[in-house]
Amino acid sequence: MLSQVAEGVSVQESEFCKTNTVVVQGAAGVLLVDPGVLDAELVALANDLRESGQPVMAGFSTHPHWDHLLWHPSLGTAPRYGTIRGAAAIRARLADPGFESLLARMIPPDIAEQVPRDLLGLIAGLPAETARIPWDGPDIRIIEHQAHAAGHAALLIEERGILVAGDMLSDALIPLLDVMTAADPIEDYLAALDLLEGVAGDVDVVIPGHGSVGGADQVRARIEQDRAYVRALRDGGTPADPRIGPSATFDWMHGVHERQLQQLAERSQRDGTAGWRPPDRDAVTPPRTDRVR
Ligand SMILES: [Zn+2]
Repeated sequence: MLSQVAEGVSVQESEFCKTNTVVVQGAAGVLLVDPGVLDAELVALANDLRESGQPVMAGFSTHPHWDHLLWHPSLGTAPRYGTIRGAAAIRARLADPGFESLLARMIPPDIAEQVPRDLLGLIAGLPAETARIPWDGPDIRIIEHQAHAAGHAALLIEERGILVAGDMLSDALIPLLDVMTAADPIEDYLAALDLLEGVAGDVDVVIPGHGSVGGADQVRARIEQDRAYVRALRDGGTPADPRIGPSATFDWMHGVHERQLQQLAERSQRDGTAGWRPPDRDAVTPPRTDRVR
């Protein structure tokens, strides 16, 4: 079930939301990025690795959302990392007595029984100045930015020409902004895309958290597509985006888009900082109190 995307780098796609588990070959074992999602898939992955004599040496979660924080006992007890902000965010949630019920609302009921939760989110935060994942394998650069979630990180495996993008640069998912906690969800997202564009020249393969693995031509195309979507949100236009059109990979993505518009409008109304203006407004920023009717 593992498919190789470059020398020493493979991907296993989950049935849930085309989630990608990334397996990077190191000197004496592998690093797993965002292993998921269903119990049977994680067991199959562990079996594959065991049969090929590859112990799990480390894990990394690109961001603190449930589908990127999973683990399974059969994968062993290797250290699991995330950014310091990502780890702090999930630690706070795990300490919240209401977390179980929140999780129950987030995990779709049809797969809830199949998602292993016991080891969810048990990651250590790497100090902010950490440039690379500490492990014995190819250098993996951590490119942290504020976009989809607190402490979201993309990973650049320079010597393999691979960008692991977390929940950005997907052909299936629209940009999902951190509407609730970002200082400025739209501008933060655009800044993150600029950051990824800065390394795009070294990238031959982009692996999104959900969706298809893209080749060299896809890296800039996906950055542009994400940027166009976010700019349309900012400018009050209607994004012409295939991910929410009739040929969308997920037919529910259009509903997600509508909900995102709604949340941005609510946030804008609340504090006037979301940078979003309702359609039919001219480009001049109206006074705060007038931003949303
Ligand atoms: Zn995700």
